[in-house]
Amino acid sequence: MHLNPYGADAVNLAADLANRRPSSPGELADRCRAAGLAVPGAVTPEDLDRAHRALTAWEKVVDAADEPERAALLNGMLEEIAAFPRLTDHAGDGWHLHYRDEGRPFGDQLCSLMAVGTALHLAGRGMHRLRRCAVSECATVFADTSRTGRQRYCSPRCANRDAVRRHRARHTG
Ligand SMILES: [Zn+2]
Ligand SMILES: [Zn+2]
Repeated sequence: MHLNPYGADAVNLAADLANRRPSSPGELADRCRAAGLAVPGAVTPEDLDRAHRALTAWEKVVDAADEPERAALLNGMLEEIAAFPRLTDHAGDGWHLHYRDEGRPFGDQLCSLMAVGTALHLAGRGMHRLRRCAVSECATVFADTSRTGRQRYCSPRCANRDAVRRHRARHTG
């Protein structure tokens, strides 16, 4: 099975890994598999390093000051890793697109998937649809795939927390 970078899975996987960085190659492999990604047999410490560097670059895309800066940072990631799209049926389970050269290490594959998936998410759904939670002490990153595109909180819990706080501020202020 492969992640479709046009869907939300690739950008959601990037957010999940950025919010809780994997600490070992095994954990990286497990969490990518859990997200539905086809992971080759052995994930190496080099792959984990590559993933961490890609996540650091990706968080800069999240924290960009405006849309042109966001586009420029993401274009930098794409330039570094992505290749022309090609059709492949390497696993014999269906034709799909790869946006990278064949035979690259898993860390590079993951970096390409995150960059391409995020670019497609932003271009397709809206450049603003990637952010950190509006609760100031919560730094959680999320991709906004809501219908309205106005999601401000990472979770219902944070939305409630902020609603309670605003209510209190109104009544004691
Ligand atoms: Zn594939
Ligand atoms: Zn939050």
